[in-house]
Amino acid sequence: MKTVRAEFVKSAVRPEHYPEMAMPEVAFVGRSNVGKSSLINTLVGRKDLAKTSNTPGRTQLINFFSVNGKISFVDLPGYGFAKVAKSLRKDWGEMIEAYLQGRQYLAMVIFVLDIRRDPNDDDLSLRDWLQNFRIPYLFVLTKADKLSRNQANVRRRVIEKYLGLPAGVKPILFSAKTQEGKSDIWQVLESHLQAQM
Ligand code: GDP
Repeated sequence: MKTVRAEFVKSAVRPEHYPEMAMPEVAFVGRSNVGKSSLINTLVGRKDLAKTSNTPGRTQLINFFSVNGKISFVDLPGYGFAKVAKSLRKDWGEMIEAYLQGRQYLAMVIFVLDIRRDPNDDDLSLRDWLQNFRIPYLFVLTKADKLSRNQANVRRRVIEKYLGLPAGVKPILFSAKTQEGKSDIWQVLESHLQAQM
């Protein structure tokens, strides 16, 4: 999709504050610093729509964006800050679970992982949630430019094993630096969302 217009709509914590936009929604999840904001910015062709590098421990919000007035992108707060207090972790979990379970417009989750890191327990629990709630998801492996082509393919296979992906389900390699993977991700999104747009 050629992005003509992408705009911030609203931040929210609780479902009663989510915006009422009757558009299919794509939510982005991933550990902090994984490259989630850079991915969103690259997909919509804007430098700073999603803010990069949030401060650890700050109150975290769910951010809603409108893309071409047709799709809604949702930036879910990153997880896995070592320093974050247990109480904040609990808040994070409740906020994400309420969104994933209750959001009627949610059409797909883009699950963002750093290609250089093995998925950890937080990543695996989130994958289990998505499976339990039967939410379609796509894995995107970011920062592919930091590895050679060979290394990147090796890492992709290692991560596939960790995630226990069924044969034929391939994570997409992505780089915000080279834009590798951008059109592949749009292709998956468009074919998945077509029926709902
Ligand atoms: P977020 O916390 O998941 O939103 O991550 P950000 O998008 O803020 O990125 C975290 C850091 O990784 C920043 O310094 C980015 O410039 C860098 N980064 C993100 N994506 C890429 C990428 O594809 N390639 C490279 N080389 N660096 C990236």
